[in-house]
Amino acid sequence: GLRRFMEKTPRSLELYKKTLDVMPGGATANIKFFSPYPIAMEKGRGSYLYDIDGNEYIDYLLSYGALILGHGHPDIIEAVHVQLEESGTYLFGAPHRLEMEMGEKVKQLYPSMERLRYTNSGTEATLLAIRLAYAYTGKNKIAKFEGHYHGGYDQVLVSVNPPVHEAGSERHPHPVAESKGVDPYHEKHTIILPFNDLDATYDILKKNQHDLAAVIIEPVQGGFIPATQSFMDGLKKMTEEMGILLIFDEVKTCFRMGLGGAQAYYQITPDLTTLGKAVGGGYPIGITGGRRDIMELSAPTASADVFDVSKSRHSSAKDVLFHSGTYNGHPAILAAGLATIQVLEREIWHIQDMAAKLKAGIAKLFSERGVGMQVLGLGSIFNIIITEQESISNYRDLQKADFALRRELDFLLLAEGIYTKPLNRYSISAAHGEKEISRTLEAFEGALGKLC
Ligand code: PMP
Repeated sequence: GLRRFMEKTPRSLELYKKTLDVMPGGATANIKFFSPYPIAMEKGRGSYLYDIDGNEYIDYLLSYGALILGHGHPDIIEAVHVQLEESGTYLFGAPHRLEMEMGEKVKQLYPSMERLRYTNSGTEATLLAIRLAYAYTGKNKIAKFEGHYHGGYDQVLVSVNPPVHEAGSERHPHPVAESKGVDPYHEKHTIILPFNDLDATYDILKKNQHDLAAVIIEPVQGGFIPATQSFMDGLKKMTEEMGILLIFDEVKTCFRMGLGGAQAYYQITPDLTTLGKAVGGGYPIGITGGRRDIMELSAPTASADVFDVSKSRHSSAKDVLFHSGTYNGHPAILAAGLATIQVLEREIWHIQDMAAKLKAGIAKLFSERGVGMQVLGLGSIFNIIITEQESISNYRDLQKADFALRRELDFLLLAEGIYTKPLNRYSISAAHGEKEISRTLEAFEGALGKLC
């Protein structure tokens, strides 16, 4: 697989070598690198990506799930174009109609988001949610689950993918910084919880109850390991009883498990929610929203207008929670987001249907060869875990999977024009149809024939 991959991608290698002189590791985000070198892309059309060697791929990475309508959906292109043409600008730097219209739509789909704010990424969305939780509760620690990702800053860059031997026991995981340069304070003070283990989670929360502002959770870990219903019900109940806010990080799950995300699926009302990725259809966005009384902490009232010199003597910047951003609520991006939601309202069933077909087809091919595996995930995002385990419910279970075999499979598939980053998830878009699903299953059949 690797040899054929390299034979097909000489220009990617050449560009990678040149890029090494420009960017560390030849990539602008660590996650976009894979060994021996990442494929450089040139064009996208619907469900297809084309690399700089002219190879065609069916895209299942879909920019880590963001491209829920695929590449270059005509409705998104039209909406962005109309917005640019009619307003004559890219950016107002002032309030505009789409902020309200997109917000109304999001509130309709996520009723728990009584008030909301736009950010430029999922990272900024969770950052704001955590600040709101600190401010609202007057407490200054957060708890997160081992193996859950919430963005690239110190408070949450702990125990995302820790080496198991450094991470304590499964039921009482220790915090492990995920990067060089993470402030040791956050490594020390972030409380780590075991996903899908209600009793152990209860014990840890109870012990830290008076310090904890919030629990932040990916309702579906990494987009593919679902919380059990009883875990979610229990977590909601205990956080409420202990006076700890519950933050649903739905950056990955929003629109992938249905239009109302994980909270509609589990019938749970979180205190705060973060959205991202699919909500912008491929444009950079994040949204933080939730209970009105919490969100209103960021409301800039006249008395807290720090730039109003006449009042500044009587008020302090600390009267209001700071949230800002030059590009927040970018009009072209909100136009793209609204268009995405409109298409999804008509077509989400198709995406779910194609995902179900592909998942079932892949599972069947593995079982015909007697290879233990699970196709894990809800809705239009899933992962292929090669393992003999009967169930996978958390980070520790995941570590026991056969990643070496999965990697070999991924390189064979890349050589056959099936694209995801090796070891990554699969996402489906509105542009994936029967033809792409059957082509993909043929490629799997061929690859599995070579491997097992
Ligand atoms: N939260 C979750 C659950 C995510 O999956 C991601 C992105 N992978 C983020 C937050 C961060 O989003 P972004 O990359 O847009 O900053």
